[in-house]
Amino acid sequence: MNLLEEQFDILSYVNQHKSTDEHRKEQIVKEDHEPLVQQQKVADPFWSQASSVVSLEEWKKICRECRRCSLREGACGVVFGEGDPRARLMFIGEGPGGDEDKLGRPFVGRAGHLLNRILEAAGLQREEVYIANIVKCRPPGNRAPQREEIETCFPLLEKQIELINPLLLVCLGAVAAKTLIRSNFSITRERGTWNEFKGRLLMPTFHPAALLRDPSKKKPVWEDMLKVMDRYRELDEKER
Ligand code: SF4
Repeated sequence: MNLLEEQFDILSYVNQHKSTDEHRKEQIVKEDHEPLVQQQKVADPFWSQASSVVSLEEWKKICRECRRCSLREGACGVVFGEGDPRARLMFIGEGPGGDEDKLGRPFVGRAGHLLNRILEAAGLQREEVYIANIVKCRPPGNRAPQREEIETCFPLLEKQIELINPLLLVCLGAVAAKTLIRSNFSITRERGTWNEFKGRLLMPTFHPAALLRDPSKKKPVWEDMLKVMDRYRELDEKER
């Protein structure tokens, strides 16, 4: 099956899987609030410990014990993220849903299955990229994470990105884009444009859950993925 056929295969899959639950999951924080992330590392013992961590496995162990915000109380556990610890391409979503919370893995529900198919269509295996979320514990009722929760959890992801050291980041959805790019970022108007996060190229696109809800987003996501893959191959070749 060629890429075009795969694309249409994805689209037919999307059409079959619209979900109101995923719609709730995609509810986004308001666009006009102040910056989502304030650095809170000063005088925090957690960060004294974190500064000496040099391996992803060690960081994972520390994060799994995290109870720094109330999200942990309602969650089965911390969903750290998964994939190649040396991945060149990293996908960042919003937060774990019910399936992810139960299994302790990111993107394993319907949106996750769709992400897998998008990756396959782009010629990638899930195992060769890294997948994580802005917050690592499931917000109750699949609501969008609140600003304070994002502020508390985001430094854990920042450290994770630093340890994985990917060439490219892909923001899946508005929460990730507002956190990594700027708080008034509009995923609808500004997706598909290259941005930068701490020296890494970053592409914002729609969350797979948004495609499940609205099939008209399938084409722009595919266009964004083509841009990502072009740049990924280019950078990958330079690095080898
Ligand atoms: S959401 Fe993040 S900060 Fe809050 S308890 Fe879970 S891992 Fe810790």
